[in-house]
Amino acid sequence: MHDFRYKSGKLYCEGVSVEKIARKVGTPVYIYSKKTLRDHYRKLKDAFVSVKPLICFSMKANSNLSVCRTLVREGSGLDVVSGGELYRALLTGVNPQKVVYAGVGKTEKEVRQAIRARILFFNVESMPELELINKVARSMRRRADLCIRVNPDVSAHTHHYITTGTEENKFGIDFHAAKALFRRAKDFPNVRIVGLHVHIGSQITIAAPFKKTIKKVFSFIDANRLDVKYLNIGGGLGIVYDKEKPQSALKFADAILPILRKRRGLGIILEPGRFIAGNAGILLTRVTYIKKARRKRFAIVDAGMNDLVRPSLYDAHHTILPAHAKKRRREVYDIVGPICESGDFLAKKRRIESLASGDLLAVMGAGAYGFTMSSNYNSRPRAAEVLVNGGRFSVVRRRETYADLVKYE
Ligand SMILES: *Cc1c(COP(=O)(O)O)cnc(C)c1O
Repeated sequence: MHDFRYKSGKLYCEGVSVEKIARKVGTPVYIYSKKTLRDHYRKLKDAFVSVKPLICFSMKANSNLSVCRTLVREGSGLDVVSGGELYRALLTGVNPQKVVYAGVGKTEKEVRQAIRARILFFNVESMPELELINKVARSMRRRADLCIRVNPDVSAHTHHYITTGTEENKFGIDFHAAKALFRRAKDFPNVRIVGLHVHIGSQITIAAPFKKTIKKVFSFIDANRLDVKYLNIGGGLGIVYDKEKPQSALKFADAILPILRKRRGLGIILEPGRFIAGNAGILLTRVTYIKKARRKRFAIVDAGMNDLVRPSLYDAHHTILPAHAKKRRREVYDIVGPICESGDFLAKKRRIESLASGDLLAVMGAGAYGFTMSSNYNSRPRAAEVLVNGGRFSVVRRRETYADLVKYE
């Protein structure tokens, strides 16, 4: 599942002890395993081999160039949601014909950049967006391909902040409006609708909502006799953070392949983010102080909500492990950052081995939506990122400096 393990009581990423990385690079630091990234990509690819999907890694989960390049070299495409991600994508050397572009608020400038880059297609989320793409493409004397993102109104049974496929939220177009849009397609000669796109949410641990969604999409295609080349089934595969028992890639494939296989010739696109990167990374942090209050024990660490916002934002659970298992007595801690906000915590009421100032802690499952959501709040320079490959590691993004903080002022 991942390549972070204890060897003689010390936590290793592949062949490198995390302690060594802390000594050389400092903390807080994000550490990614190249092997885990590759393994997760291959697992999905192998599970779906019978339909030969295009797997587009969702860059918003982890847009580090070296991380994305690792996947691109395995054959992965990229799913981008902004001009900035497109810029990064092109720097990885990815074939633009393996890049898909989603998001509800693409600007004219972003649309132009993507058409110029000759991406595979846009995932379109509204009628005005389609009109804009048509207009921009016309001005460039080009034709742009697009998939219509439909909102299937399926509950993904996940946190309400990360569910995206119900009528309550801003994503996609309902089937009724999508039908009208297909009817009007001929009014837009500079775009070609090549497929349908769905993405119903994130951290989904069961196959049922995916199955239901795909069935709904096929009924829609059949009822309207649509001629589509691609079905983009989005991302959203859940991973283990705590005690979840998510479907494996194989189980997921077993559940939906029988439906997909009935449609020969249909190009299948997957957009996994978390599934590939989540458990391939940790955030390593050092305990600054142990503070004992009357009713609580706090471990104040050098990583805060600016480094990893998931606990504060989604009440997300991350397993926290000591970098050095010392078999001490266990105590209960709130593990909190240095930021001046009560919401600044990494974990609450965790029973772990008794901690002391200077101890290193690994926040597990931090490879997706970790660094990409980090900020400079409280004027804290962003953490370094390290990529481990076997017995070696390299800094793939240097720690920001104070000078970086004021560079644009
Ligand atoms: C965020 C996102 C993904 C990736 O979601 P994961 O849960 O990380 O797999 C895929 N597609 C779209 C359109 C997204 O917005």
